[in-house]
Amino acid sequence: MSHPLRPIDLVRQPAPFQDRYKILQKLLAHLQKVKPNAAEKLNKLAVGLEARVAKSSSSPQSYRFNMSILMRDLTKYKGDLSQIRVGQKPIVARDKTRPSNITKLNAMEKLKAVIIDTEVLKKNGYIIGKETTEDPADLIYTTCIRCNTKFEKAKIMENAFCRYHISKKQFDKVSKTYQYPCCGETTVSTSFLRLGCQTQNHHVFRSETYEELSTISKFISTDNYSGEENVLALDCEMAFTSLGYEMIRLTIVDFFTSKTLFDEIIRPIGEVIDLNSQFSGVHEICESNSMSYHEAMRKVVSEKLINKNTILIGHGLENDLNVMRIVHKKIIDTAILYSKGRYKSSLKNFAFEFLSREIQNGEHDSSEDAIATMDVVKVRLGIPVEQTGWD
Ligand SMILES: [Zn+2]
Ligand SMILES: [Zn+2]
Repeated sequence: MSHPLRPIDLVRQPAPFQDRYKILQKLLAHLQKVKPNAAEKLNKLAVGLEARVAKSSSSPQSYRFNMSILMRDLTKYKGDLSQIRVGQKPIVARDKTRPSNITKLNAMEKLKAVIIDTEVLKKNGYIIGKETTEDPADLIYTTCIRCNTKFEKAKIMENAFCRYHISKKQFDKVSKTYQYPCCGETTVSTSFLRLGCQTQNHHVFRSETYEELSTISKFISTDNYSGEENVLALDCEMAFTSLGYEMIRLTIVDFFTSKTLFDEIIRPIGEVIDLNSQFSGVHEICESNSMSYHEAMRKVVSEKLINKNTILIGHGLENDLNVMRIVHKKIIDTAILYSKGRYKSSLKNFAFEFLSREIQNGEHDSSEDAIATMDVVKVRLGIPVEQTGWD
């Protein structure tokens, strides 16, 4: 049964009961327009809002005036009560642990509105289906992403000499040269150190095309997995192995409860060349602390976790999905959505800009990154970050 539509009795009525009743009906009709998905709750909401306006008004004129401001704001903010004030006071309590006016349905609508178009995903390196545009030679040879040497993939575990810099070169405006932040060398230096401050016995590579990636392990399309319509934030840590770039840790966090649903160290298929511990935060992988890649994928691509109805949130998520070999279409990628200008912003910058949160000071943590990405989306969509209870 719905809540009775009747003005609440007040000690000091700003207007006669009959007038209040008429205005209450008008307010309800207005709410039905701006919040069409909350039908059953609107009577109660209308009665509550009318009472607030009545209490903060001292005369019939101010009552009517305040009510017209409320209706205007309801239209302006599309029914988002967290934006609305009555008599200078916010109508949604500031206690963030309590459910806000934002329902799961509201949040889902906001999220669905920013799912990225498939064509845009393709342009950003997402693999959406089988593509065969490749030169077959690329399947045999590759280029080291550290030192740029061309080598045969099959011979990756043979000793080689790889000299490189840990950090990408950056343009220095004062000296007008490119510098390597890792060691201070410049591209115009005459020292052999300009070629790199680090050396390794193996080259490393990173496959990016469907064909190359699927020779290592097959892609799974989530289209074949039905399940609940959930919203998950995901982040991987990766390492270099004899098979290229592989996942070594995976974290999945639930958008609505902020609970970590999956967080495991993953054993790669190939032989480890470099765990990138400095970035990945993973220092050791052994049988006892990890899960195999195939076991992890069986758990993760499933009814309860990633299925065809899942909305996946990530930052530069094409990297994660490619190492996981997942083809998925409902994507919210903060790097695509919120970067300004020609280059994609880092998650570190977004966390600082939108959350005033410092992340990735030193080793990365896929759990911290997944949560930060999810919170950036919440802030940008006006969904309270701390809210874990939903109607
Ligand atoms: Zn260097
Ligand atoms: Zn190399």
